[in-house]
Amino acid sequence: MKKFIILTLFSFTVIACSKSDENQVEEVVEEFEQIFSCTSYDDLLDPQNTDQDNLMQYWTKFVDDVKCSRGGPDYSERNPSLNIFFEYRSPAQIAAGVTPDHIAYSTFSGYCNDSRVNVGVLYTEWTEKNLLQRLWIMYHEFGHDVYKYEHSNDPADIMYPASTRSDIDLNDFIAAKDRMFKRSFTGIKYISCPGE
Ligand SMILES: [Zn+2]
Repeated sequence: MKKFIILTLFSFTVIACSKSDENQVEEVVEEFEQIFSCTSYDDLLDPQNTDQDNLMQYWTKFVDDVKCSRGGPDYSERNPSLNIFFEYRSPAQIAAGVTPDHIAYSTFSGYCNDSRVNVGVLYTEWTEKNLLQRLWIMYHEFGHDVYKYEHSNDPADIMYPASTRSDIDLNDFIAAKDRMFKRSFTGIKYISCPGE
């Protein structure tokens, strides 16, 4: 998959023997190779997407991504009870027990319940993030809720607590979600739930 950014530069070129100066158009093509992902994020990253506040589309994307990346499991079947919602309180008002991401949180009733996803997102903070950060944040919370991952110490991992880095690009995200799905990042730890 390749994406092209085309910058068109106009320059005057004087050619000695020509009848007149010519306006010459040069095209400079900067190319970057997007690393492979079996699912596309174009819809979620489209600034024209008028459905940006629909949190369910992040869940749907995550479920499809796991299925096409790993062949399953089907987390939509495993988690029939979904509660993915905006929270309009300030972080200071959120009760103890939340993960300290200050933008979104998963709760005991989600990550310690195999059939339930329970993720809250702080609306004001959410609207201040760019679309790729929002994608990263939602995968981070599903990482807690579905995989029961604790935080990672590596800023390159989706499970790093400061999941709101502004310098990430799509390739960073794809590499990180692949490690997350494969359970192959260093220092991996799991949330322990009662009875386990
Ligand atoms: Zn977290």
